[in-house]
Amino acid sequence: MDNDIEKTLYSAEDIKAAAHRLGMQIAEDYQDKRPILISVLKGAILWTVDVMREMDIMAEVDFIDVSSYHGGLASVGEVQLIHDLSIDVADRNIIIMEDIIDTGRTLQFLIDLLNERHAKDIKVCTMLDKPEGRVVPAKADYVGFQLPKEFVVGYGLDYKEFYRNLPYVGVLKPAIYEND
Ligand code: 5GP
Repeated sequence: MDNDIEKTLYSAEDIKAAAHRLGMQIAEDYQDKRPILISVLKGAILWTVDVMREMDIMAEVDFIDVSSYHGGLASVGEVQLIHDLSIDVADRNIIIMEDIIDTGRTLQFLIDLLNERHAKDIKVCTMLDKPEGRVVPAKADYVGFQLPKEFVVGYGLDYKEFYRNLPYVGVLKPAIYEND
């Protein structure tokens, strides 16, 4: 798997440090607020776990699966709900846990859904942010790293469902796409 990676952008240590920094910040901001962390499957699972174990406060976690990429390189635009939450979000403080924000469509879809369900407050914590990719306005409150418009894999992020288990974030060798 490592042989398919052209370069590492964020090492396991970089990501651990970012999760520590943001987990501590969220714990301070959410003392006594009992937030629900909503982890967006599948990409945000590792990031969610890393951030939540740095938070010494009462918090719930739930999962939602939405899809706009279908495993390739380009977004198809429309976002679909694949697996819904199990917790009622009405009148609750929500922190959406994302792996990466690119066009902003996924985040906008989630925020609209949570607002329809009368969430009290919605904030966003993302491991990676690609601000240059925005098609709809979307802003994260807690950001691990900002990166240029580049397709990355690892630490939850996939290419055709693989590479999610890489312990770092990197860029694939062009030959991997060209062979597909
Ligand atoms: P958006 O809706 O903001 O365009 O994209 C959000 C979703 O697209 C992410 O949760 C992720 O699944 C996927 N995505 C966006 N950029 C990348 C990328 O560089 N690499 C991978 N593997 N997935 C991405």
